[in-house]
Amino acid sequence: MNTPNFNLSNQIVIVTGGGQGIGFEIAQAMQASGAHLVIAEANASTGEAAAHKLEGDFIATDVTDSSNVKSMVQAVMKKHGRIDCIVNNAGICRNTPSEDVSDDEWRLVMSVDLDGVFYCCREVGKHMLTRGAGSIINIGSMSGSISNRPQPQSAYNAAKAGVIHLTKSLAGEWSPRGVRVNSISPGYIGTAMTKAALENPEWRDIWLSSTPMGRLGEPAEVAAIAVFLASPASSFMTGSDVVVDGGYTVW
Ligand code: NDP
Repeated sequence: MNTPNFNLSNQIVIVTGGGQGIGFEIAQAMQASGAHLVIAEANASTGEAAAHKLEGDFIATDVTDSSNVKSMVQAVMKKHGRIDCIVNNAGICRNTPSEDVSDDEWRLVMSVDLDGVFYCCREVGKHMLTRGAGSIINIGSMSGSISNRPQPQSAYNAAKAGVIHLTKSLAGEWSPRGVRVNSISPGYIGTAMTKAALENPEWRDIWLSSTPMGRLGEPAEVAAIAVFLASPASSFMTGSDVVVDGGYTVW
């Protein structure tokens, strides 16, 4: 029997939005598995602190700006000569009744949550395809498959559905050339993104009672899957959407 290989020794891994929350936890888990991390983050203070802690690199990056993404990828290639994995994690959510969502708010959510994922896949994908190897991990959400309640968030849900299908589309195109593309779809995880909402007892009760395991997930429970998808242990996986939601989507 071959022992599964979860080792990421010497891999060059980019995590977008890796300054805090799920992104930071993924970066930390990958570093613990041997990877060198590049934190591509819009927030300079969290991004720099995360990179310092992980002995990695910080590159100020706004994923909504395709030229900014291009420069970030060029800088990583110049310094390291290759990119083994990118985790497209940067994301935002807005809770506005759909009839009141402004054009600007719709565009903002789409630009971070979907356009940003595409720009990063495209730029990193070019290098991975040239090399014929690489793993792309896109952070989707259970919101890409179900519609959350009670909070309204149609732009976020639509963007995340787009991320899951973009992942499958890229997997079909790029896997024959050696580049695996998968997504992870978390349920409710305790981070800054969910903190304010959890202070609303009505939302909190509905979220927890709708989750068979009756609790929020920890960022580390998402990070473990990212390590697996980056590693040789997942070598036959591409186009998969790995749901980690405490059972939310079974009901
Ligand atoms: P956080 O808000 O804690 O972290 C998101 C990070 O992304 C922040 O560091 C943020 O920086 C950064 N970011 C935001 N916009 C940009 C941008 N334009 N360019 C680069 N970086 C940016 O969220 P989570 O850790 O909870 O979420 C991480 C991912 O997981 C997201 O894609 C989210 O949709 C997804 N997810 C989260 C769930 C949850 O319950 N928490 C559930 C399902 C999916 P800044 O400090 O400036 O805000």
